[in-house]
Amino acid sequence: MPTERADALVVGGGIAGASVAHALARRGLGRVVALEASTPAAGATGRAAGIVSEQLWCRWDVEVVRESKAAYAELAARTAPEAYRVNGFARWTSDPQVADALRARVAELKSWGVDVREIAPGELERLLPAVRADGLVAIAYAPGDAVVAPTSLAEAYFAEGRRRGVEWSLASPVDAVVREGGRWAITARGRTTTAPVAVVAAGAWSKKVLAASGFPLPLAPYRTQAAVLRPEEKVGELAPSFDDLDTDVYARPEENGRILAGDGTGKVEVDPDGYVPTGDEAFVERLAESFVDRLPGWSEAGLVRAWAGVCVSTPDRRPLVGAVPGAPGLYVLTGFNGFGVMRAAGAAERLAALIVDGSDAARERLAEVDPGRFGGRLPAFGPRDGFTLQAGENPRF
Ligand SMILES: Cc1cc2nc3c(=O)[nH]c(=O)nc-3n(C[C@H](O)[C@H](O)[C@H](O)COP(=O)(O)OP(=O)(O)OC[C@H]3O[C@@H](n4cnc5c(N)ncnc54)[C@H](O)[C@@H]3O)c2cc1C
Repeated sequence: MPTERADALVVGGGIAGASVAHALARRGLGRVVALEASTPAAGATGRAAGIVSEQLWCRWDVEVVRESKAAYAELAARTAPEAYRVNGFARWTSDPQVADALRARVAELKSWGVDVREIAPGELERLLPAVRADGLVAIAYAPGDAVVAPTSLAEAYFAEGRRRGVEWSLASPVDAVVREGGRWAITARGRTTTAPVAVVAAGAWSKKVLAASGFPLPLAPYRTQAAVLRPEEKVGELAPSFDDLDTDVYARPEENGRILAGDGTGKVEVDPDGYVPTGDEAFVERLAESFVDRLPGWSEAGLVRAWAGVCVSTPDRRPLVGAVPGAPGLYVLTGFNGFGVMRAAGAAERLAALIVDGSDAARERLAEVDPGRFGGRLPAFGPRDGFTLQAGENPRF
């Protein structure tokens, strides 16, 4: 079988793989060969809601999301202006206990430099006229949060990466990354390519690829659903996205006055090659019920489509970004716990800096998400909610 030499290999063509391949090429790594099992954004990226929010778990997250936002804004301005829109993001509750936790979270986010503030019910109703805000005890609002079109951004990274020399190979599933003569070898479509560096960025499938390569990491794929609905009264494209902490339902405005809504994390591990990709009837009913009191005009909204995708969680909800322990030159970029679009570009850029510069400073910028933090253990765990404060929970990052 013919063997080719490259400088870096990337597995996966979602927003993570597309952005890291682009970042490596932009930093002049040399010959970057990237392989995608199907087509660009065929996994979770093509099924994501596209909310980008700085209201996340810790300072690391806030900074990385900010870096992603800057990268997406710039990329969209050049390639697909409609793929990035600043619309703000509100989170609310009518539960006094959750309100206390939400206020504490607002104070913490502010201390990390996030532009977020508590707003009055009247202001929420002005921002989102469909909402009935009476009875809400606390509302947090971050005006700078955004919505993006994840597929357009991934495709833009593919195109920009190609322009910088990334060799993308589509319909090229990779079984494993194999150590051969001090290099990493990947075989796909009858062709073997070796390189000193390989990055596994295969989303929920990363678990299988890493295990087959002999370097398992604690990852648990889970299913999550979303739907596009058509309310009778059109919703403005700049209306804020929201997360209703009472019902655990989130939504964002879509084009043509529609909304995209979802309810977060499926609590059981699934096989990303065997999950049900369509939305459940019970899920759509739950969405409608969740709107009855707070967004009554939406409870009768027509269903445009509903679907499911597979995300991947980690034991401590932090992503896995960096060197795979015991495997020099092998890196991973996954475990986004349902927030991979908003974290991908920032995390990919930091990973590319680590790979290309290898400096202590670059390592420090990924210390919190080091894949080696479990010390080689594979703790048993199940997926948990992605949003902070969901179901009244307030765990620390
Ligand atoms: C319904 C839903 C709503 C979401 N909403 C949001 C949101 O609002 N904001 C947010 O930030 N995130 C959201 N997410 C999460 C987000 O979609 C993911 O975290 C993100 O897309 C992960 O990107 P990725 O590139 O790591 O993985 P993926 O997009 O899954 O990409 C992995 C790629 O690897 C390929 N692949 C798999 N196996 C192999 C192999 N063996 N060889 C080669 N290639 C392979 C797949 O075909 C796929 O294209 C949502 C997800 C879903 C499902």
